[in-house]
Amino acid sequence: MNKIIIAIDGHSSCGKSTLAKAMGNALGYAYISTGDMYRAVTLYFIENQVDMHDPEAVKAALGRIKLHFVADENGNRIHLNGRDVSEEIRKMHVAELVSPVAAIPEVRREMVHQQQEIGRQKGVVMDGRDIGTVVFPQAELKIFLTADVNERARRRYEELLAKGHPVDLEEVKKNLAERDRIDSTRADSPLRQAEDAVVIDNTNLNHEQQLELALDLVHLVF
Ligand code: C5P
Repeated sequence: MNKIIIAIDGHSSCGKSTLAKAMGNALGYAYISTGDMYRAVTLYFIENQVDMHDPEAVKAALGRIKLHFVADENGNRIHLNGRDVSEEIRKMHVAELVSPVAAIPEVRREMVHQQQEIGRQKGVVMDGRDIGTVVFPQAELKIFLTADVNERARRRYEELLAKGHPVDLEEVKKNLAERDRIDSTRADSPLRQAEDAVVIDNTNLNHEQQLELALDLVHLVF
């Protein structure tokens, strides 16, 4: 069976990575959450006090950042210059800065380039905000995932609590809404639904139902 590229885009915390992982496992495809890449860059900027308003500093920093994914039994871990930062990047101090960092054209250019390299062999499920519109406009299947903002905030809140990060539900909700606002209104590759994307609203779907729907879409491609 020919391998395809599956692009999943959508709002913050609507379960894109969960769906990408489940589809990747079901199909034997690699899965990549591109948000992890923007988060890891943001963590580097924070730890190294990179001035994101200084294009030269940003360019120099990007030259020092090496990202790679390592698959293990806990999923696809992201390594920043050899260090596993998969837990660190989910914390609120990173979430609060990631959207402004991801709006920087130099950052996007570099990440998109790396993502296109990863997809060269096909057989990949990639999730993010601009995968179906910019990274792989030729993707054979594009899914635009969404869910009610209160439900999204509740899910992310529970996830953070379960991981032992003390957070406030209102703070989580404000962060989601703010990231959606910045992501949808930025000049460079804003979050939008590709014309040929299929919308899945998973507000009232569980993981299994969502996966079943998505796999039905894959079978329609072949
Ligand atoms: O997917 P996740 O919520 O982890 O992404 C974190 C942030 O990274 C998003 O809010 C967005 O600002 C940025 N992002 C992006 N383009 C992508 C993936 C993520 O701008 N393809």
